[in-house]
Amino acid sequence: MKLLGAIEAGGTKFVCGIGHEDGTVIDRVSFPTTTPQETMGLVTDYFSGKNVEALGVGSFGPIDPVVGSPTYGYITTTPKPHWGGYNLVGAIEEQFKVPVGFDTDVNGAALGEYTWGAAQGLDSCLYITVGTGIGAGAVVGGKLIHGLSHPEMGHILVRRHPEDQYPGFCPYHGDCLEGLAAGPAIGARWGKPAGELPADHSAWAMEAHYLAHALMNYVLILSPQKIVMGGGVMKQSQLFPLIHTKLQELLAGYVQHPALNQDIGSYIVPPQLGDNAGLTGALGLAKLALDRN
Ligand code: ADP
Ligand code: ZN
Repeated sequence: MKLLGAIEAGGTKFVCGIGHEDGTVIDRVSFPTTTPQETMGLVTDYFSGKNVEALGVGSFGPIDPVVGSPTYGYITTTPKPHWGGYNLVGAIEEQFKVPVGFDTDVNGAALGEYTWGAAQGLDSCLYITVGTGIGAGAVVGGKLIHGLSHPEMGHILVRRHPEDQYPGFCPYHGDCLEGLAAGPAIGARWGKPAGELPADHSAWAMEAHYLAHALMNYVLILSPQKIVMGGGVMKQSQLFPLIHTKLQELLAGYVQHPALNQDIGSYIVPPQLGDNAGLTGALGLAKLALDRN
């Protein structure tokens, strides 16, 4: 079987791995994200001599994923020091003469769940991560969504919870979804890291309020056949039933489908690929690049 390389390029760490065309990961390592020179040096060392036939990169962003654009393959406007305007795909292609697939981390994860995970056999799926930030990727009609660039579904505007005084932390929009509901917002609002709040804390009903508003918009706009929710905050598994109930309340029966009415517990689910969703997604991007060539 062909060997493929996968890179999950995150703002905190880069996870690199090797796998097969069937989505199995056979090796993985991780490096802290410091400067491009240092981090990419470690990435290059890792893949040297591994003889991968294609590489897939699921990256933090914003990025330019549009093939043919002058800045294709770049990380564009990230506030992360040293990485704004960095030609990530160019750096990889310079080292390895193999096809490179490049997309957002969340589009990669959506592709992984669609190909090998919770959304296998369907035509569409949405993957949302709720972590340090919020982002979502989607497969629609078997294709990852791109357009002008890539969707930024974490920065939509949602209706404020009536008891929420927290202003929001998004440097661009203040109280967009990410500003109100990503991990750091929960920590700042309640004065304690999100992971340390008890499962019965009222923080989680408020979190479910925001996430259900977002999902309502995604369901109304994209009508995905499956919604996969990952990221550190979603480790709070009590959020799932809270989100299910709140989404049903918000939709108020307007969208009639058994997935939303009877079966919502299997419609909005955690990643089937678990903590490997990102890396397996990058493997999916490598496979796409190989198939394209
Ligand atoms: P990143 O988004 O940086 O890739 P994560 O998805 O792990 O990383 O998200 C990190 C965020 O998730 C932090 O804001 C952290 O407070 C929050 N988080 C991590 N673990 C938990 C947990 N068990 N419960 C709630 N929040 C968590
Ligand atoms: Zn924002």
